[in-house]
Amino acid sequence: MSSYGARRAGSVPRSGLLQLRHIPMILMYHGVAEVTEDPNKLCVTPGRFAEQMAWLERHGLQGVGVGSLIDAMRDGRQRGLVGITFDDGYVNVLEAALPELQSHGFGATAYIISGRLGGTNDWDEGPSWPLMSADEVGKLAAAGIEIGSHSATHIRLAGASAGQLAAEVGASRTALAALVGAEIRGFCYPCGSMDATARRAVRDAGYDYACAVEAPVADVGLMALPRIYIGQQDGAARMAVKRRMYRSYIAHRGRRA
Ligand SMILES: [Zn+2]
Repeated sequence: MSSYGARRAGSVPRSGLLQLRHIPMILMYHGVAEVTEDPNKLCVTPGRFAEQMAWLERHGLQGVGVGSLIDAMRDGRQRGLVGITFDDGYVNVLEAALPELQSHGFGATAYIISGRLGGTNDWDEGPSWPLMSADEVGKLAAAGIEIGSHSATHIRLAGASAGQLAAEVGASRTALAALVGAEIRGFCYPCGSMDATARRAVRDAGYDYACAVEAPVADVGLMALPRIYIGQQDGAARMAVKRRMYRSYIAHRGRRA
């Protein structure tokens, strides 16, 4: 029997993979830490993160990395899965998020800035937090967390030159693959900044998929997967609203992006 014939009824055919209504919820996090100052609202406390992961489990949802989510979508078995992502590669993802994910048997993807290993988020105005070293990224990968690229230096990619795209998109993939000893399947646009040229560069560099933030609906696809921001304010009630409103939220925000 062909694999096509073996497909379950109601599964997503390949041609339908990119349709918005088939894309499961993908959560966007940055750090998991108690911080005194957080003007960009990048961190959730470990306690809040634990509540959010427990909320997913209580509702029969399984947190997974985006690569696994894409594989599931291809096979039409994405029901009940939620993508969990961490941008920038903060040390606190290894220290605080990983144990909590492991306690639920969840996966996730961490998007790492290949040229800033062991550095800080000095592109942000606001407090400075440490980024994982090469060693720490290796530990996260060894624990089963998918490692993706968040560029080489965290520049905005909309309007970037061919040379910049080669370094930020292509070279970062090669460097991270060497670091973790595995293929790097996912890319994540710094600040969600992208255009058609950037999306093409990501595809041409060999990535399977890329995460955006508020992607224009017309651009939504494997090279621009929309995600929803999850922050400290998101307790059980807000998690329920975000889940229920996910598709209309993505479509609405995407119209303005
Ligand atoms: Zn970032």
